[in-house]
Amino acid sequence: MQNYKNSPASNETEWGKGPFREEFEKLRAALAQCEAKLHALLQASPDLVFVLDRDQRFVSYHSTLVPLLYPPSTFLGKRHGEVMGPELDALFQPAFEKVRQGEIVEYSYPLMKKEGRRWFSVRLSPWFVDEEFQGVIAVVRDITNERAMQEQIALQATTDAVTGLPNRVLFRDRLTQAIYRRARHPQTLAAVFYVDLDRFKILNEAIGHDEGDVILREVGARLSALLRPEDTVARLGSDEFAVLAEGFDSLADITRMADRLNAALNQPYGSNLLHLTASMGVVVIQDPITSSAQVLRDAEAALATAKRSTRGKYSFFVPTMHEEALRTLALENDLRRALEVGQLAVYYQPVVENRTRAVVGLEALVRWPHPVRGMISPSEFIPVAEEAGLVCELDLWVFERVCRQVREWESSTTTLAQRPWWVSVNFSVEHFANGEFLKALRDILARTGVQAHRLRIELTESVFLRYAEKAKEVLTELNRMGLSTCLDDFGKGYSAMGYLLHLPIHVLKIDLSFLRNVPGDTRAENVVRVMTQLGQGLQLCVIAEGVEHESQAEFLRTIGCELAQGYYYGRPMPPEEAGKILVQGMLE
Ligand code: C2E
Ligand code: MG
Ligand code: MG
Repeated sequence: MQNYKNSPASNETEWGKGPFREEFEKLRAALAQCEAKLHALLQASPDLVFVLDRDQRFVSYHSTLVPLLYPPSTFLGKRHGEVMGPELDALFQPAFEKVRQGEIVEYSYPLMKKEGRRWFSVRLSPWFVDEEFQGVIAVVRDITNERAMQEQIALQATTDAVTGLPNRVLFRDRLTQAIYRRARHPQTLAAVFYVDLDRFKILNEAIGHDEGDVILREVGARLSALLRPEDTVARLGSDEFAVLAEGFDSLADITRMADRLNAALNQPYGSNLLHLTASMGVVVIQDPITSSAQVLRDAEAALATAKRSTRGKYSFFVPTMHEEALRTLALENDLRRALEVGQLAVYYQPVVENRTRAVVGLEALVRWPHPVRGMISPSEFIPVAEEAGLVCELDLWVFERVCRQVREWESSTTTLAQRPWWVSVNFSVEHFANGEFLKALRDILARTGVQAHRLRIELTESVFLRYAEKAKEVLTELNRMGLSTCLDDFGKGYSAMGYLLHLPIHVLKIDLSFLRNVPGDTRAENVVRVMTQLGQGLQLCVIAEGVEHESQAEFLRTIGCELAQGYYYGRPMPPEEAGKILVQGMLE
């Protein structure tokens, strides 16, 4: 410790010469030891230490590792206010008052130095002798690195590591501020665009996570490029982004922005020009919206609607979506439970030869007798199952149930064991996104001991659109396993028909929408005729779906479409009834 006054212990006084010499020497030795201990203690500390007396004068200091900013002569003996400048003194004065009362006080401050700005913390503790206040001990520490680290951690807590964009935490914070601003400036509009990349998870698996990250950064860059600096683009989750933009004059402006974001996202990505689409939920921030959580909930509901329509589109939030989202959520939970407890059932609809009314097969259709809502149509709950990731489990449950039923029918009468008939089962396109499909089918066939020729797999055209390569592989393997395949709902939406030429498909099912205006509407008649010819030309078995009247059946006979399915021949029915019809082999 360096003092500005000389140490009394180093001074020869009268005391050292008289009869108390021995006592004096002892005291001096003790004092020297004390001082050495204090010195060692201070040496061990990396901090700067200052001692200020009760008049706030610097009386001594210690600095081992930290160099002094100013030479000692500039502060020793001077008062704090004289040396440290008004800003630091303003921090010091109230702290000093508290320390005088016996408290320990800490504060921090920045100082500009040659190498830049550095941060220091000061800890002031009181110095009392015999309960009398002598001054303060100020321990000063350079906390620049610590602070930088804290700032980095704070930044990481609010930044997405892959894209460098704000994350959900920061986005919600900005959204909250925007909601407040909107309340103060109600004349302009603000909006949140909640973006979800369609099927990104599958793409990510296929191209590898590094490439996936490149695409995510590209998405962030494209969104940012369309916005003003004061708007916010954030990455909220794996393939979810959100845009917050303010200052729109009208809903039309917001729509234009949604169009631009949508168009930018739907351009091919990366050097391989990968095609990726995005869906978007849009929420206009308006009263009575009160919280960021509500805006995000609404945006998710709008996004779900956008996803359900055609992919690659956006949808604005309307309040009824909330109820719909809640209903879907409830349905999803109920469905999960229904699968667990085996609440679902399988019905069977006959497929009939038009001329003879012979029953050649059945289509298995899942049914859900909901305990409260009654029978729910698969058209309602299959999309929910797809969205909730439950559809593969559901389909395989149906398939196993059908296999067992087939075994039961075969063993019930010899007629059924010998006659050729089959049951077709519907499978969702989602199976093509997971590698377990074929193995699961094989396991079920093995478990139930059913022969593959009794079964047909119904798939829709979307499989070929979305999984062109994989579809070929899977269909070839299904064929190898002895399972024949039906192309369901043919003509309904996609119609890139090249796949018909080189894929092992056995049955074409003409979508029921085409039969609706037949007979009578010549154009519809022609379409059904051409589709039938197309199927026959490719040596496929053609089934017309949705036959409701004799006139339709008659029309099909005249164009040579041999097989049909529809309410006219029989509605989907429980297994007991279907079994009877199968045994009869012929409709009455
Ligand atoms: P789909 O495979 O095209 O099945 C034919 C649908 O048309 C059935 O509706 C059937 O009841 C209905 N239908 C049959 N004849 C007529 C008719 O003459 N007129 C009218 N208007 N409709 C008729 P359902 O049972 O409601 O099934 C709807 C869709 O749900 C099915 O269409 C299929 O895509 C899907 N689905 C059914 N069961 C399953 C399943 O186990 N798994 C999967 N993934 N999807 C299934
Ligand atoms: Mg079907
Ligand atoms: Mg169909």
